[in-house]
Amino acid sequence: MQLVDGIRRFGFRKWYERELLCSHAHLALTILCALALLGAVEANELFSDWADRLFDALAVLVSAGIGLWAVRRYLFLLMHAEHAANQADCPACGTYARFTLVGAQPASQTLTVRCRNCSHQWSIED
Ligand SMILES: [Zn+2]
Repeated sequence: MQLVDGIRRFGFRKWYERELLCSHAHLALTILCALALLGAVEANELFSDWADRLFDALAVLVSAGIGLWAVRRYLFLLMHAEHAANQADCPACGTYARFTLVGAQPASQTLTVRCRNCSHQWSIED
């Protein structure tokens, strides 16, 4: 979910929490795919029929493909959330993640936010 949509819909803290939960769900999927991949490689020694080996090779390819996609998605979501969180401190008073969305420039993917503590405005890059 885009940062601007997430802030409008849930607020920054909830958006950040949801991004972290989603990214770690992808990490769990990566671990499951690694286990499936190891199981499929291990099972390959048990098969003598070429059709079973072909099916097992297909399982290895599918596990590896889904695992690679999941680890990329995990890293993307985690880095996106951390990139936004590193900009969530108010430069004037240092309050973390207590701001309201003032505006968004879709072309530059920059959000203008206002601190709820001291009313200072600053920009956050998406
Ligand atoms: Zn402030």
